[in-house]
Amino acid sequence: MGSDPLRSLTPFILSTMKVITSADSLKPFRGCAFVPTMGALHDGHLSLIREAKNADKTVVVSIFVNPEQFAPEEDLDKYPRNLEQDCAFAESVGADVVFAPSVETMYPTGSNESLSNLHIPWAATKPLLEDACRPTHFLGVCVAVARLFDLVQPSITVFGLKDYQQYLVIKQLIEQEGKRWSDLQIIGAGIIRDDGGLAMSSRNVYLTTDQRSQALGLHKAIRCSTEKAMLETLDVYGLDVEYAVIRDSETLLAPIEGKPTRALVAARLGHIRLIDNAPVNMGVQL
Ligand code: AMP
Repeated sequence: MGSDPLRSLTPFILSTMKVITSADSLKPFRGCAFVPTMGALHDGHLSLIREAKNADKTVVVSIFVNPEQFAPEEDLDKYPRNLEQDCAFAESVGADVVFAPSVETMYPTGSNESLSNLHIPWAATKPLLEDACRPTHFLGVCVAVARLFDLVQPSITVFGLKDYQQYLVIKQLIEQEGKRWSDLQIIGAGIIRDDGGLAMSSRNVYLTTDQRSQALGLHKAIRCSTEKAMLETLDVYGLDVEYAVIRDSETLLAPIEGKPTRALVAARLGHIRLIDNAPVNMGVQL
């Protein structure tokens, strides 16, 4: 039987993306466009990689499930992991490098020391949203992201607006660290949803069919123009609300007349925690 010409090309095509685990191997990619993730890649992550590709630079995607940002009762052990599939997905949208460090590479001198050295931005403590629900979370995120920026030395980084408060925290971290990452620019990429409107998330794999239908309540809630209507909507869908608020888009504090606002929600379905957000304009979701 004659061989399939496409099949014989596959190893060649696959070999164009590099998978690296050591910090030293990152040196040739300084100045890249960088997409940090915790893996279990879905279309939301892939949209970030596509956005990074627009910058016309080498695209580096990191895959690291960061223990520092999980509280002891959270799902660190159960968090979905599949490096092989993630690499195939990343390559399918044109990533040039996947950086998959070990915990030892990320935190060689011990995490306690790295935790104590970082000045946490105010967006990580003042809004009392994610920061109130997950008090140690942003400290862990900042430590990991700062370490990744130190190692990768990117010129552009892409974060999803799905984690809106996290996006603001990292934006401020970059601003306050000044030249540490030589004029690093951050891009906020829009939220990718499935057909029903549910924001894509690595944790959606935990949802049963019934829970998926209930989870659509988050999308409905962020399209409301008052907090009261948001709460009522979440109640109709049987969601256990952590917060449902409309805040100033820039500060995540109380809205100011005439300034852009954002609806943000966090709710639980059993042990699964979901978040979502959307801009609000005169009561109409953009
Ligand atoms: P994670 O792997 O959950 O840490 O997410 C890595 C990056 O992907 C973060 O910047 C997230 O905000 C972003 N992200 C996750 N889900 C989505 C989504 N549905 N749409 C756009 N970006 C997303």
